[in-house]
Amino acid sequence: MEIITDNAQQTQKLGEKIGRSLSRPEILCLYGDLGSGKTTFLQGLAKGLGIKKRITSPTFVFMKQYQSSFFHVDLYRINNVKEAKGLGLDEIFNNPKAIVAIEWAERIKEILPKKRTDIYFDYVSKNQRKINLSGC
Ligand code: ADP
Ligand code: MG
Repeated sequence: MEIITDNAQQTQKLGEKIGRSLSRPEILCLYGDLGSGKTTFLQGLAKGLGIKKRITSPTFVFMKQYQSSFFHVDLYRINNVKEAKGLGLDEIFNNPKAIVAIEWAERIKEILPKKRTDIYFDYVSKNQRKINLSGC
């Protein structure tokens, strides 16, 4: 499924809709440059999961756990798989109740579980983003 959103709110709404329809466990891998809308999408997704807290970019931490076993992972500061070892990813990948969302998932593609959903974000213009969802 490929969608072009015309503003940040539309991207959030898309995330919210998907958040409402997810079943557990789920691993969402988000790919795309800085500013392409990954965190914006996850803010909506969290809302769709019923999470009250606002999702922010975990700047200095790589992983943040929210209520209802939602894990937000941001690998922007990771350069390779080696650096990702020891972050506890194995544990959350094997958590049967978890919803895991990984920004910059391309940085650890060698260790991503096969069973996952890939979401690609592209910058089109100042307010437009192209979002591609595999298997949705
Ligand atoms: P990323 O997490 O991919 O780095 P963010 O979601 O943090 O990206 O930032 C996206 C920025 O682009 C936000 O400032 C947001 O307001 C803006 N924006 C403009 N148009 C859109 C759109 N259609 N979808 C998502 N974000 C948009
Ligand atoms: Mg982000």
